[in-house]
Amino acid sequence: MNSSPASVRGRVFDIQRFSIHDGPGIRTTVFMKGCPLGCLWCHNPEGISDRCELSFAPDRCIGCGECVRICPAEAHRVIDGRHVLDRSRCRACGACAETCYADALEFVGRDLTVGEVLADVLRDRAFYETSGGGMTLSGGEPASQIDFSVALLKAAKAEGLHCVVETSGQCEYARLARMAPHVDLFLYDWKESDSRRHEEFTGVSNELILTNLRRLHAGGARVRLRCPIIPGLNDRPEHFAGIASLVKELDGLDGVEIMPYHRLGVGKMERFGLDPGGRDEYEVPSDEQRASWIKTMMGLGIPITP
Ligand code: SF4
Ligand code: SF4
Repeated sequence: MNSSPASVRGRVFDIQRFSIHDGPGIRTTVFMKGCPLGCLWCHNPEGISDRCELSFAPDRCIGCGECVRICPAEAHRVIDGRHVLDRSRCRACGACAETCYADALEFVGRDLTVGEVLADVLRDRAFYETSGGGMTLSGGEPASQIDFSVALLKAAKAEGLHCVVETSGQCEYARLARMAPHVDLFLYDWKESDSRRHEEFTGVSNELILTNLRRLHAGGARVRLRCPIIPGLNDRPEHFAGIASLVKELDGLDGVEIMPYHRLGVGKMERFGLDPGGRDEYEVPSDEQRASWIKTMMGLGIPITP
């Protein structure tokens, strides 16, 4: 068995080239499967499960029946002219997605080695060099596949790449500590300052996340806060004041990014057989609303990063 670092495998749902919102410059973002949170506004629901899974878009289905014919598990059926997918029967073989030429089915999740991912990332080295960019690990949660993340970060650093990790901070601190020596910048989510509300919005309290943030900062890591703002949930003065108090406490933070809510995740939830709940009821903020948040936050001394 080959146990070299380049052969460590991870489960990835996307490798996005030319990202410009996941750290400085032009970047390649590696999105990993598996997330410990369940945020009400999740915009990457394909990253929630650590399993490979099918995405099914009924509006694209032309009813050709090819998936019914090819599926070894009889997970696809047509009942009264309606396509029904029984996910509990699916064995994640991917055969139906390969055969669906209407692109109604997509198999999401690939098990790739560090060497395979790095080869893909290095394709755009010239763009990183001219823009100050590099590689970003995102998800899902990079800390949830820690051996793969550490091996990939080490390999990218050996190639001289600038490395960013986006994290929810919801993990054992030891995982963040293992990544830290190979990370130039952490994009650290701070979703809600009130712990009870944090639990209501994400499924977990913010206590471990806050402890880990403090430890990471005290250890000398470069950290930027990322704050998703969802109208009606956390666009409260008390939360903005909580962010300001963190900024004051954690001297030298690398700024604060505001991530205004959008609805892209709602349609995606349905494609993965997940209940979107009330997600489509949240208001998408207007330009004026965003400007007003930024003005309030800057007035509180929060260094907003564009
Ligand atoms: S193969 Fe694709 S288009 Fe054909 S029935 Fe299945 S999902 Fe629909
Ligand atoms: S992935 Fe395989 S088992 Fe699952 S529904 Fe498609 S063909 Fe059937």
